[in-house]
Amino acid sequence: MSNYDYDLFVIGAGSGGVRAARLAAGLGKKVAVAEEYRAGGTCVIRGCVPKKYLVYGAEFGKALKEASGYGWSIKGAKFDWASLRDEIQTEVSRLSAIYEGVLERNGADFFSERAEFTGPHSLRLMKSGREITAKHILIATGGTPFVPEMPGKEYAITSDEAFLLDTLPERVMVIGGGYIASEFAGIFAGLGAKTTQVYRGDKLLRGFDEEVREAVGAGQIRNGIDVKFGQSPVSIKKIGNGFKVTFEDGFQAGTDLIMMATGRLPNTQGLGLEKAGVKSDEKGAVIVNAQSKSNVGHIYAVGDVTNRVNLTPVAIREGMAFVETVYKNNPTAYDHSDIPSAVFTMPPVGTVGLSEAQARAKYRTIKVYKTDFRPMKNLLSGSEHRCFMKLITTGKREKVIGVHIVGDYAGEIIQAVGIAVKAGLTKAQFDATCAVHPTLAEELVTL
Ligand code: NDP
Repeated sequence: MSNYDYDLFVIGAGSGGVRAARLAAGLGKKVAVAEEYRAGGTCVIRGCVPKKYLVYGAEFGKALKEASGYGWSIKGAKFDWASLRDEIQTEVSRLSAIYEGVLERNGADFFSERAEFTGPHSLRLMKSGREITAKHILIATGGTPFVPEMPGKEYAITSDEAFLLDTLPERVMVIGGGYIASEFAGIFAGLGAKTTQVYRGDKLLRGFDEEVREAVGAGQIRNGIDVKFGQSPVSIKKIGNGFKVTFEDGFQAGTDLIMMATGRLPNTQGLGLEKAGVKSDEKGAVIVNAQSKSNVGHIYAVGDVTNRVNLTPVAIREGMAFVETVYKNNPTAYDHSDIPSAVFTMPPVGTVGLSEAQARAKYRTIKVYKTDFRPMKNLLSGSEHRCFMKLITTGKREKVIGVHIVGDYAGEIIQAVGIAVKAGLTKAQFDATCAVHPTLAEELVTL
């Protein structure tokens, strides 16, 4: 008989936490999950899911504009922000309820309140004040938006609030050049707002392949986004119903909405890590080993709170590996290499493996194959968007170590290509695969 209230207590009902809790409960463990906001976490509530719906919404706008090239005449088309926002929130609520239901069906207790550590094996539920003990504790509290200090920063929203806006403003300024900034600039522009994206660097999406970064920047501009490079805001002032943003070089610009997409931080503030003796790094990320174990042997952490690879499917795999390690006597480290991912700009990015710069730094010999073309669909639609593809190989056998796509369906294509890269296939094996014609993806086997 255990002396603890629970075998496992999970803090945070996001993708990683719920998967681990469900699997552990399914193995007969006594499990509880605490969530301070809504079950589903960032991905379901204010991330991947509602974001993708907004991207779909923006893509309809683009399709309407381009439809005349295909013989359609559409008059009087109008966009209603409130209607899309509410439809998305209904779907988000449905999914959140499913997350809670999954836990309950598997026999886990769900506490709809914040939990904080009071000791290495104990937590307090902050609404009820109840103290709970657990043999193992899994920290899966995700991340939270980071907004740099500056006068007037309280006037800016983050992606958390973007989903719930009362109205779609006429002018929007998105600050940042990363995933969230680039995706939301595309969304706002696609839905009809006059959009500016301001980035302190000289190419969007730092860390991606350089040519991908250039192609994404060009795509944003083709979508009518006013992209300003080499600028960082230093202050925000409220002027009437809008705002005035001042930048480092003194440049000033007016807008109706400012969205800061300046990164995310691990969500550990006030969690009481110190009371449990759990170590975190300078950003607040829980420091874990390859099996997601913290410096305290019975406390683990998965997902964005560890700030490794901050993607939903990675958090899920880490949660699954935790269950293998702790409850199946099978120490499992999730392999973080060759993770395919997408950025849902318009057109989107799909990427897996090394960028050209990373490949050059790691291998003595690499070969790069690339193509840049105007997709067939755009010839009739009149869209100026292009498709860029790059395939990087190494060694005599020409093992494929990186594939990068900026073009329609890139997110879908890269999932399948990811299998080939993960399997270590060679360029010859790509070439031996028959093309599917006419598609964008066929270029990958004819490069
Ligand atoms: P990113 O780290 O991708 O981007 C943050 C951006 O903010 C960078 O362009 C950064 O500039 C800029 N920035 C940071 N600090 C400042 C500052 N003080 N002043 C001005 N600019 C600043 O973070 P995101 O929040 O966009 O995304 C967080 C994570 O969420 C991603 O890394 C990704 O893992 C995940 N995500 C994944 C998505 C997907 O898979 N499609 C979608 C959305 C998020 P610089 O480059 O110079 O540092």
